[in-house]
Amino acid sequence: MTKSELKNKVCEIIDKKRSDILAIADKIMKKPEMGYREFETSSLVCSELDKLSIPYRKDLAVTGVKGNLKGRQSLARVAVIGELDAVTCSTHPTADKVTGAAHACGHNIQIAVMLGVAMALSEVREELDGDVCFFATPAEEFVEIGFREGLAKKGDVKFFGGKQELIRIGEFDDIDMAMMVHAQGATPERAAFIDGGSLGFVAKTIDFIGKAAHAGGAPHEGINALNAAMAAMMCIHAQRETFRDEDRIRVHPIITNGGELVNVVPSKVTMETYVRGASFPAIRDAAAKVDRAIEGASMAIGAKCEIKDYKGYLPLVQSKELGDIFAENIRLISDDIKIYRGIDMVGSTDIGDLGHIMPIIQPTMGGFLGNLHAEEFGVADEDMAYINPAKAMAMSVIDLLCDGAIGAKAVKDSYTPIMTKEEYINF
Ligand SMILES: [Zn+2]
Ligand SMILES: [Zn+2]
Repeated sequence: MTKSELKNKVCEIIDKKRSDILAIADKIMKKPEMGYREFETSSLVCSELDKLSIPYRKDLAVTGVKGNLKGRQSLARVAVIGELDAVTCSTHPTADKVTGAAHACGHNIQIAVMLGVAMALSEVREELDGDVCFFATPAEEFVEIGFREGLAKKGDVKFFGGKQELIRIGEFDDIDMAMMVHAQGATPERAAFIDGGSLGFVAKTIDFIGKAAHAGGAPHEGINALNAAMAAMMCIHAQRETFRDEDRIRVHPIITNGGELVNVVPSKVTMETYVRGASFPAIRDAAAKVDRAIEGASMAIGAKCEIKDYKGYLPLVQSKELGDIFAENIRLISDDIKIYRGIDMVGSTDIGDLGHIMPIIQPTMGGFLGNLHAEEFGVADEDMAYINPAKAMAMSVIDLLCDGAIGAKAVKDSYTPIMTKEEYINF
């Protein structure tokens, strides 16, 4: 088959499987699971791969699933990624009543799209000169730090981001390049955003330690840890005028434990925050100011503070060559999809880490109402959400792996890693 016949064939298969793809997304939406606990979502991925006779390994970094579709020869291996986890957004109409988790970041759609690509490519495997890895990855959202610390103590994970951990345990060692598609929030129009950057960050947990006392009877004998936390928040805000526009610093603390009983002076208050920014010198500078604010405020109240830093995500750097291939295939699907190149996102993602050691893309697609992580988030255009990303990725894999995997070779040759895996682990 010629390349364009192959592309037509995979697009026809994806059209035929439309209701199956949508049903998978719907099923996952109804059972949202938080990072490193995506057990049901993970077993759904396994059963769909079973249906396609694609062998896989599971329970990687707790819940990850890695399927491998072998081509007629294995000259390169391209990963198509879908993320398993939900976020907490208890006001979302589909939120889990108990946990508050909801697929308000659209990761359920990613899994359905990844499996749609698998449905299509499994029928043309004999035409591919490389392998395709269908990789369902856990815990993209860097949240619930206390829970993940517990996992780390048990030795289940070392890194808190799913792709970080999968890199660490070597599950990306046999992969040459990776692609995935994410929803673009609040963008109902037919648009694809290709090769933009994103922010990196460090995460912090802060324990403010005071002294308990009767809040009515003897507050003078206590040290109010909540007052220390509130003062720290104000001092952090007072740093904001020193952040430069080009550094795109974002600091957004929350209090995860604000005291135990209303009639006891809070003796321990816990805060979590990210310090995000466009470059590591800028993040380091802002993080030092945040630490200073916390320490100064604690001293003013007479409380102690314990600051713990966690390796966050690296800024996103996408492969221009993979972006070109993806853009060309979007044009093949329809010329009414507007293509934007190089517009940065303000969020952060663990595929940013992967992009430091191999070529990756994570285009974002329009077709969605409401912002990500918000109660209004939902699908406005089913073609844009489910069908076109599956077609564009399936066709991009064909460009990479047909004709002796010449496309994959060109992408690899044009890529210089920002760091080796070993440098990454030690970073
Ligand atoms: Zn998200
Ligand atoms: Zn997301």
